[in-house]
Amino acid sequence: MSAADAAGALFATLSAGEPAGVWSAPGRVNLIGEHTDYNDGFVLPFAIEARTHAAVGARADGRVRVASTFADEAVEVGLAELDALFPARRDEIPEWARYPLGVAWTLRPSASGDVPGVDIALASDVPVGAGLSSSAAIEGAVAVALDELWGLGLDRRALAAAGRRAENEAVGAPTGIMDQTASMLGQADAAIFLDCRTLQTQIIPLGFAEAQLEVLVIDTGVKHAHATGGYAERRASCELGARLLGVPSLRDVTAADLPRAAQVLDEVTFRRVRHIVTENQRVLETVRTLRESGPLAIGALLLASHASMRDDFEISVPELDTAVDAALSAGAIGSRMTGGGFGGAAIALVPSDRVAAAADAVTTAFAASGFAAPHVFTVTPSAGARRD
Ligand code: ADP
Ligand code: MG
Repeated sequence: MSAADAAGALFATLSAGEPAGVWSAPGRVNLIGEHTDYNDGFVLPFAIEARTHAAVGARADGRVRVASTFADEAVEVGLAELDALFPARRDEIPEWARYPLGVAWTLRPSASGDVPGVDIALASDVPVGAGLSSSAAIEGAVAVALDELWGLGLDRRALAAAGRRAENEAVGAPTGIMDQTASMLGQADAAIFLDCRTLQTQIIPLGFAEAQLEVLVIDTGVKHAHATGGYAERRASCELGARLLGVPSLRDVTAADLPRAAQVLDEVTFRRVRHIVTENQRVLETVRTLRESGPLAIGALLLASHASMRDDFEISVPELDTAVDAALSAGAIGSRMTGGGFGGAAIALVPSDRVAAAADAVTTAFAASGFAAPHVFTVTPSAGARRD
């Protein structure tokens, strides 16, 4: 059963009537620009074809009920209770339900008058926790649905911001705006160039189809945990670096400043800073290269990004390095880990006729290293959130 049908079937268990509609939003892959978002820098993600679907219908009683194929039980709260629940008492809500209920909470004040309650049934084919942002997909699907059902008339940026606020405050995950922006603004065969300082975006055609390139995702299965450990530590290093260099954020440091940075900073902080500075440059260079030369020319930039994350930022793991090396050896033109690091997924840009060989090479290399088998699949840059 497709995820859209599964959402419809789940809706039928919630409500006797038909849903008002089915809305969906995609996951995303970040092509390049890692850990640059919270440094006010640049990122270049694209939406993928895997989507989360929300079958949604209005209720007369002012209640919000959310159900997911992901969870055993529906969760129900009153619209009037949302302000008391979020953020103060969010722990009373099962974590998965905080995403859709959090979006309802952030969007409700945008309505001019009263809004009806809703039943929301969710089903997804975005793998959870694989670095493909199932969280932005669930937020995006609910946001476009409520925007329409509640007659809010918000634009896509506002809906992305609502999703982010839900994730930050209702869920409690300190993430940036990249994922929601990609899920909202995605277009077929294109990436979204996002300036995380100004929040300006540009659609950048990728031309993968014409160049007969496919994007292979290699999900290592190694779990990442955003809120904890390494991620928070890297953020703290970046903040320290900016403070010691006397700038508002590392966005304001250029390659020309690096020699001075090397004198001012301790060795580890310097390497963290160097990753952010060079990664921002690589994003700009990737956008320029895509425009001027096309996608076959961006391989070296992807590789340099991976090396910087492995050596300077130190957020790779042996599984990710193995995936990148194996994909390259089997004909990928570029490859890098993607997402926050410490596990998750790598991507490889592979000529169509080499996809099977690259997937085989990765699987074989994992087995040879004694790693658990990776999950290897292709993704296609695809359209953003919409009513289906
Ligand atoms: P990622 O975004 O990389 O997949 P996150 O930890 O940010 O990982 O978000 C995953 C969480 O989002 C899940 O643990 C779950 O709470 C929630 N989630 C995602 N998709 C669904 C879904 N279809 N139904 C219910 N909850 C979901
Ligand atoms: Mg997420």
